[in-house]
Amino acid sequence: MKIFNSLTMSKQEFKPLEEGKVSMYVCGPTVYNLIHIGNARPMIVFDTFRRYLEHKGYEVNYVSNFTDVDDKIIKAANEEGVSSEEIANRYIEECKKDMAAMNVKPATTHPQATKEIDGMISMIGKLIEDGHAYEKNGTVYFSTRSFRDYGELSHKNLDDLRSGFRSLKVSGEEEKEDPLDFVLWKPKKEGEPAWISPWSDGRPGWHIECSVMAKRYLGDTIDIHAGGEDLIFPHHENEIAQSTCANGAPFAHYWMHNAFLNIDNKKMSKSLGNFFTVRDISKKYDLQVLRLFMLSAHYRSPLNFSADLMEAAKASLERIRTAAERLKDLALRDGGDLKACAEGALKDGELATVAEAEAFIGRFDEKMDDDNNTADALSVVFDLVRFANVNVTEESSAALAAKVLAVLQELCDVLGLIILTEKEDLDSEIEELIAKRQEARKARDFATADRIRDDLKARGIELLDTKDGVKWKKI
Ligand code: AMP
Ligand code: ZN
Repeated sequence: MKIFNSLTMSKQEFKPLEEGKVSMYVCGPTVYNLIHIGNARPMIVFDTFRRYLEHKGYEVNYVSNFTDVDDKIIKAANEEGVSSEEIANRYIEECKKDMAAMNVKPATTHPQATKEIDGMISMIGKLIEDGHAYEKNGTVYFSTRSFRDYGELSHKNLDDLRSGFRSLKVSGEEEKEDPLDFVLWKPKKEGEPAWISPWSDGRPGWHIECSVMAKRYLGDTIDIHAGGEDLIFPHHENEIAQSTCANGAPFAHYWMHNAFLNIDNKKMSKSLGNFFTVRDISKKYDLQVLRLFMLSAHYRSPLNFSADLMEAAKASLERIRTAAERLKDLALRDGGDLKACAEGALKDGELATVAEAEAFIGRFDEKMDDDNNTADALSVVFDLVRFANVNVTEESSAALAAKVLAVLQELCDVLGLIILTEKEDLDSEIEELIAKRQEARKARDFATADRIRDDLKARGIELLDTKDGVKWKKI
């Protein structure tokens, strides 16, 4: 399998540190608001890559953080008159709901920066001790000149950068020894959350958080570090400098970066205000449509969000689901379950058809082996759909239909696309939520009751309060 490594700017054969195991760190969102679909791009593409590694038999330790202390969180907290912790916890919960709705698997660990402060203080202490960092009036800076390889990931000309920064000199940063030096620890300002440290009561810089969380949950050297391409400089460059100097070992062997999700060819971002939240999109589309839309482009190519492309993704998903439902009906026409049906008897000549269907797995893997090429892997899925539509008919055995469906299901599972909706599970989950809402109403906890109704609505389910109790319907 080959991965494009941003460090070497080339596709490289993937070799994990330990055979059969992969350690992977993906920078997660800053939690001060609902996530937008730009943030969803790394979540979906790297979740798919993780699923593919698992499909190939690797055991994946997948760590993705929540940045839960940050200027934007503090600002949102002050605006609402609540604590930063309350804002962060609220949006972590909301983010987890969006991830579940997009069928993004929970990480092995989702660390939170504020729970790892001790590790940050000890890494900063070590960097100071070894001459890689210095303190000025309670602020600690990393000394970029102390790390020979600084700039190796972003391939930037450091002299140009240094002179650029010098002319842009921002107030309060004059005490830096070098314009490229960056903050590891900063003293608190009035009304900000703070932790006690040897340098000042304050909080960590953003970059040190990821270095510490990666070390704690994955070790000094990890296989893959990933995130959006806006993080290459300075965030990832700084993580490499801190981790390499503190650990005395290389940090990550492979760096993967997704390109932006754009709108009107501009990066979708909160600051530009040109964004849709995942929650907005869920009101109009099944989020599996969003997932398929994201996977229909290569993760290193910019992707422009448009209503037309979403409609095309919706039609594509429908095509796969229709084929899957048809195969399921053919497989189950005499009863039983899919697993049992797949083990049933084939008709004469069908063995070759099964082999042809299974060969699609190899073709799919070939595409995914080429730097997570989900766009081409998806075309293999459509080829399989066409193959199934032609080769599995009412004359075919139930076993053939079940076996071809199993292949389709396997490939869609790797892409994280849900193609057969499990109606019974959905029914019972909704009934349970309705019961919870009724309890909340009885207890006059209308906020909880309304939240449950709104969450269901976001999933396309409307509750109707009738004389005969609560009914629900799909909208
Ligand atoms: P943030 O909350 O801004 O730190 O972003 C969390 C993750 O989302 C990072 O990996 C970003 O690179 C990524 N990200 C943010 N905006 C976009 C976008 N428009 N397209 C793709 N990735 C993005
Ligand atoms: Zn990070």
